[in-house]
Amino acid sequence: MTVNVPVSNLPRLVIIGGGFAGLTLARKLKRADLQIVLLDKNNYHTFQPLLYQVATAGLEPDSIAYPLRKILRRQKNLIFRMAEVTTVHPDSQEIETSIGRLRYDYLVIATGSRTNYFGNAQLGEKVMPLKSIQDAFNLRNFVLARFEKALLTNDIDEREALISFVIVGGGPTGVETAGALAELKRHILPIDYPELDLRRMQIHVIEAAPRLLSAMSEPAGEHADKFLKELGVTVWLNAPVKGYDGVKVELGNGKTIRSDTVIWTAGVLGAPIAGLSPDSLTHNQRVKVDNFNRVRGYENIFVIGDLACLPTESYENGHPMVAQVAMQQGRRLAENLMRLQRGKELQPFIYNNLGDLATVGRNRAVADFAHFKAQGFLAWVLWIFIHLMNLVGFRNKLIVLINWIWNYITYDRSIRLIFGGSRFTPTASSKSSSTTSDRKPTTLVL
Ligand SMILES: Cc1cc2nc3c(=O)[nH]c(=O)nc-3n(C[C@H](O)[C@H](O)[C@H](O)COP(=O)(O)OP(=O)(O)OC[C@H]3O[C@@H](n4cnc5c(N)ncnc54)[C@H](O)[C@@H]3O)c2cc1C
Repeated sequence: MTVNVPVSNLPRLVIIGGGFAGLTLARKLKRADLQIVLLDKNNYHTFQPLLYQVATAGLEPDSIAYPLRKILRRQKNLIFRMAEVTTVHPDSQEIETSIGRLRYDYLVIATGSRTNYFGNAQLGEKVMPLKSIQDAFNLRNFVLARFEKALLTNDIDEREALISFVIVGGGPTGVETAGALAELKRHILPIDYPELDLRRMQIHVIEAAPRLLSAMSEPAGEHADKFLKELGVTVWLNAPVKGYDGVKVELGNGKTIRSDTVIWTAGVLGAPIAGLSPDSLTHNQRVKVDNFNRVRGYENIFVIGDLACLPTESYENGHPMVAQVAMQQGRRLAENLMRLQRGKELQPFIYNNLGDLATVGRNRAVADFAHFKAQGFLAWVLWIFIHLMNLVGFRNKLIVLINWIWNYITYDRSIRLIFGGSRFTPTASSKSSSTTSDRKPTTLVL
């Protein structure tokens, strides 16, 4: 079966993935003489930097996701198909997808990354990842349901484990999630759960490296540490996680922490498509590309975004897996594909780091820019502004802004609904350690 797309005399560019990289590329090519086919396993673009706010009841899932068809509806040279791509066949210039095979003249793979459990399959089953809308939605249900469950037991230790949260990974996502949970503990949970002694609610951030935010400057890491501690979060540094059996987290330093919820934000691996030569993959499953994001050994296959690994003098292991790299690579590749069609020389990709930010709850953030660093309220305002500017879709920008203003003024988070039916509805006989099915996704309809 072949994918049903209109016949065209134009060369066909197939883009796999409508994330930051693939979407930027597609939009930049709106005037190109190409037939562009964009494929994504979802019919929406996800703004991953705000997933943690969905997970902590700050935002609804649909305020950070936007339908790809709506974003691209005016682009005449583009066809969207919702499909999962499984294999690339470079010899026949075809890809295999869940809806059939498709021929390409140029192929761009922008499938991003997936959660890295560092080879520990047991961890993957017990911890809660935060990589997709589905993960965030599932986490919100799970976290809120822990408080309902805690009301049903009189065993102090069990209750404490139910309302204690361990976040593995002291990068921006870990720090931001911990900050948001701490704000819930301060402002929301005491009102919703007056019967619970929330002084016993612990929030731990566990980081294997010697400091938080290791991809940012040292002062940024120090400030994040200080802000988290002010919010009552316990930070463990130099503490790799050795295991988690669903009840206790075991750290490399011998310490164990009892918790029903372990949120895994400790890193990602590339999410390549099968069929490329194994030589083109790095140890963490990213695809090796040249300065033009072309996969080594292939003339017409390109990789952009998190999946691409282009080591440079400043970035020995490839660029950081962040949205601004993905968008800049999308832009540069769009220019290069147009140059290629005109027979012009290609321009190399050079990353322009515009700055890094992370927020730690209300009024607190850290920001590293090329010429200045900021912490506290100023950084927080910049964080808000930059995230709003980058969100896709006017509707989403407006909804998120209104939500943030409302939450800021009222100290409230109105989205404290637990979806998931009987799986999340606690019973009096529930044990503190959750079944694996509690952790499995609740169907989310956007
Ligand atoms: C929780 C979290 C917080 C983050 N916070 C920040 C931040 O604050 N700042 C920042 O700069 N970066 C942040 N990032 C990183 C940033 O989101 C990524 O760097 C960025 O999304 C990479 O863009 P991409 O286009 O390569 O991949 P993605 O945006 O992940 O897009 C990949 C797309 O490919 C699709 N896809 C995947 N596999 C297939 C397949 N086989 N077939 C069809 N479609 C497929 C997916 O559905 C998705 O739409 C965060 C990431 C996470 C997970």
